Amino acid sequence: MPPLQDRKQRLIEQARRLIWHPFTQMSEWEKEEPTILIGGSGATLTDLYGKRYLDGVSSLWVNLHGHRKKELDRAVIRQIGKVAHTTLLGFSHPPAITLAERLLRIAPPGLTKVFYSDNGSTAVEVAIKMAFGFWQHTGRPRKKKFFCFDSAYHGDTLGAVSVGGIDLFHAAYKPLTFKVLRLPAPTCYRCPLSLTYPACGMACADEVERAMKRHHKEAAALIIEPMLQAAAGMLTSPPGYLAKIRALCSRYEVLMIADEVATGFGRTGSMFACEHEKVSPDLLACAKGLTGGYLPLAATLATQTIYDAFLGTYAEFKTFFHGHSYTGNPLGCAAAIANLDIFEKESVLKKLQPKVRALRAQLRPLRRFRHVGDIRQIGLMVGIELVADKKTKRAYPLEMRIGHQVCREAERRGLLLRPLGNVVVLMPPLSISMRQIEALTAIVKESIRIVTTPMRSKGTC
Ligand code: PMP
Repeated sequence: MPPLQDRKQRLIEQARRLIWHPFTQMSEWEKEEPTILIGGSGATLTDLYGKRYLDGVSSLWVNLHGHRKKELDRAVIRQIGKVAHTTLLGFSHPPAITLAERLLRIAPPGLTKVFYSDNGSTAVEVAIKMAFGFWQHTGRPRKKKFFCFDSAYHGDTLGAVSVGGIDLFHAAYKPLTFKVLRLPAPTCYRCPLSLTYPACGMACADEVERAMKRHHKEAAALIIEPMLQAAAGMLTSPPGYLAKIRALCSRYEVLMIADEVATGFGRTGSMFACEHEKVSPDLLACAKGLTGGYLPLAATLATQTIYDAFLGTYAEFKTFFHGHSYTGNPLGCAAAIANLDIFEKESVLKKLQPKVRALRAQLRPLRRFRHVGDIRQIGLMVGIELVADKKTKRAYPLEMRIGHQVCREAERRGLLLRPLGNVVVLMPPLSISMRQIEALTAIVKESIRIVTTPMRSKGTC
């Protein structure tokens, strides 16, 4: 066997040569030293050279209870001892059944059916098709369109891209997408209506009402990321907005799809973000944290009314013709059940609250930094927006990759982050300790200070 150093070098060379990474400009990635992660424990990850890092974004927003959590490890191994995969197309298996029962118990009231898939995009895709099919099967076939928000992100498959609103990701594929009814993003720091909260009286919700009045007869559903638009840079919506949208959807007979892919499973401080405003959607998509960050599994939860609309004799062809090879994979379901057990046994949501407060308090001094425009936080989801000019909110040009620079500095100091443009995102596992929160915030402050301080006046911020 070649010496260890040679094997590492070979891995690095192969990483550069063989893999096309998601959401990554490969010509730039190839020039940088790749970080190859080989292990993890709790909230930390270890690279090829044995360097340890805090996992500041939960391995892309999926991990909840830390890496190599023994209960999750055991649940997956136990299921492997039975069977790794059987199909849900016409057959069933115990982990899928138990998980469905457990999910519906914790979901917002009114949701009674679970449809499995395997990632956030597919969970959204399923919700879109269910909403569309619902009106087709209930005698109102004109209701075909979807209300969706500017700056929204619902995934990369083409249905999800159609209802997405991030130009950087979506504009190139517009010719492949279906037409939608667009609404202004419900965000205050850069209000699309140029108003200020609360004096605005939540005029952005009035815009939704106006659009619904005009288009409800042709609208199947509205899709929303409840409480905050995550991939847009953790854009939080004003208090009361979500509940108002729910009321409008009910009044105008438009189904409400809550995309809880990023926000589900404790990230916002409650199990689902909809709970913050006591909202029950008609369809709810979840994925990411569903398995505690272990395996790709997703679910779309639906009301009985929606489910019933697809019932009939086979010859009526109302069957929901949708599903994937790995839909409801038993290993994923076993991990998800163990994930929900941990929430109960370890009182995860209760223990989370002091961590949320500590994170908020420790980030507060950043508000004084000359280039920190806004800090948005719900639960353990945080976006720190860096701006070239704080007074005018002038953004750094994207080509500067200011967020990326901050993340590279953080990585040198033992913290793994991934930015969203000029927004530094923090989303540590729910299991992060108070000590680790201190380490995380100290590294974030230092990294932002270094990157945003002009060369001549280093030392001030
Ligand atoms: N919806 C939301 C709100 C998301 O944040 C994401 C992913 N960041 C998705 C859908 C898509 O999930 P996935 O990457 O698992 O397809």
